[in-house]
Amino acid sequence: MKVIILGSGTGVPSLRRGAPANWLGVEDRRYLIDCGSGTLLQLERAGHSFRELDGVFITHVHADHIGDLTPLVHALRLPGSGRDKPFHLYGPPGFSDFFARIVAPVAAPPGSFPFHVLDAPPVWELDGLTIRTHATPHSDRFSSCAYRFEHRGRSVCFSGDTDWDPGLAAFMNAVDLAILECSTLDADKAVGHLSAGLCGQLATMGGVRSLLLNHFYPIEGPDSRFLEECRRHFAGPLELAHDLMVRDLEA
Ligand SMILES: [Zn+2]
Ligand SMILES: [Zn+2]
Repeated sequence: MKVIILGSGTGVPSLRRGAPANWLGVEDRRYLIDCGSGTLLQLERAGHSFRELDGVFITHVHADHIGDLTPLVHALRLPGSGRDKPFHLYGPPGFSDFFARIVAPVAAPPGSFPFHVLDAPPVWELDGLTIRTHATPHSDRFSSCAYRFEHRGRSVCFSGDTDWDPGLAAFMNAVDLAILECSTLDADKAVGHLSAGLCGQLATMGGVRSLLLNHFYPIEGPDSRFLEECRRHFAGPLELAHDLMVRDLEA
């Protein structure tokens, strides 16, 4: 499995950190986890393309996580998208209804290949990949979930946006790579989000093998402050995400 961080930022426009989006490659399959604005161009910058995608996993429907979802669906039906393999689109409970009401009216799903839109179940198999979801506490307006992907003994977990949640620590149990949202420093902890120290505590509770912090709001001073606060609680391999960062879990 290989991960590329396409956008390490939030809804705050930034030339340095794109809106939330991650690329996941598993053998010859290509997926996105979230699809914030700018994702389609970031994919090109990363040497990939929307044409290759086998599916997208949405953590929740806040605008910064789905900004390029409608343009993606639109692009897939344009002449020259050149695909016939199935496309799978998953989200937390209520997502398929959201898609039908908000996305499909302005970007009708392509009719030239199978296009599946589903509310993600707790666990399922897709193309040899085992995928698990965990409901996260984030918004009182719609549901949100974390995703865990397992393939041939390797595993990666994407938290999406979430507040403090011991259940998420259990869900991450001994994962090879946990990619946690780290919106703020501890002093600025926001409702519905994790701060750097809380990320470290969750990672330690979950026994994660390595931790990548992601989804940063701009702060005063250097971003290394996120690292310092997290490091007080987590002793394992720890890094801050940046746009177009690549992590190969087979290496
Ligand atoms: Zn967010
Ligand atoms: Zn959110």
